[in-house]
Amino acid sequence: MKLYITSFSITLLTLLNYFAQAQEKINIVASASMWADMVENIAEDKATIDRIVPIGGDPHTYEPTPSDAIKVSNADLILVNGLTFEGWINDLIQNSGTSAETILVTKYVTPISSDDYENAADPHAWMDANNGRLYAKAIYEALVKFDPENGVFYTKNYEAYDKDLVDLDKYIKEEVAKIPSDKRILVTSHDAFKYYGKAYGIRLEAIQGISTEAEAQLSDMTRVTEVIKQTNIPAIFVESTINPKMLQQIAKDNNIAIGGELFADSLGKKNSEGGTYISMLRHNTDVIVKALSTSQFTETAEVKSTNNLYLYLVLGIGLLVIMALAFTKLIK
Ligand SMILES: [Zn+2]
Repeated sequence: MKLYITSFSITLLTLLNYFAQAQEKINIVASASMWADMVENIAEDKATIDRIVPIGGDPHTYEPTPSDAIKVSNADLILVNGLTFEGWINDLIQNSGTSAETILVTKYVTPISSDDYENAADPHAWMDANNGRLYAKAIYEALVKFDPENGVFYTKNYEAYDKDLVDLDKYIKEEVAKIPSDKRILVTSHDAFKYYGKAYGIRLEAIQGISTEAEAQLSDMTRVTEVIKQTNIPAIFVESTINPKMLQQIAKDNNIAIGGELFADSLGKKNSEGGTYISMLRHNTDVIVKALSTSQFTETAEVKSTNNLYLYLVLGIGLLVIMALAFTKLIK
């Protein structure tokens, strides 16, 4: 009997300890999947992390649900991009009555101003890996401020993650350099790649502007078609959060390829390609470089034409020999 009571007490203590530890975790809510992944890398099991816009959802046009309000009201920290990326977030935070601190993950970023709207900034700053480092810095500082007891743990993770982002930046630069310079033109669904283009030297053309709220016009299709004709690019690209119909039509009309699917405003599914911030930028780069580097096709064509030349030469010589032999027989 005594043994039962002791083991029951131990189980109870373990359970209580488990709940105490679970309660100690920081509750973090991220507006979108990119910074949900960043904070996961730095906080690991010290936090429970939730995001509002689901994978594959469009944060520009997202409509918050009552369960989002509950998530936000229970949070300790809320990570938002700002720069009008999630136009609905301020209302959601205010209406939830939360006492959480809102962390602007773009606080260290120098924004690119928008071509479409006056006095507005382009929100897609994370598409430049060096900006990703600034996002990680803002997140790391917020974690240390909120939970200084685990400061050493966060610092270690942050430094390792920052190193990975430096490597990522280097990787993208090296890969993009493989695209012939006159083919470094990226045509996509919406204008989410300006930071990427500025950092890595690619010209951008998109059907929709920096937000997907305004619908594409016929004039947008004409403008993009004109660019395709002038530049003779081999491929254009669809995005995971946007209906690909219009781009598929343009590709068909101009007889060019869809180079692949890019991730801009959402990560890919967990444990799949593009499922983390780092693999998202790697995936985009791999897809873009492969589709825009036509050198491999040119090379194949050159090899083929050289092979054909040899064939004609051999045939020609063979014919000459036969003719010479026939001529010698005739004379005899
Ligand atoms: Zn966007």
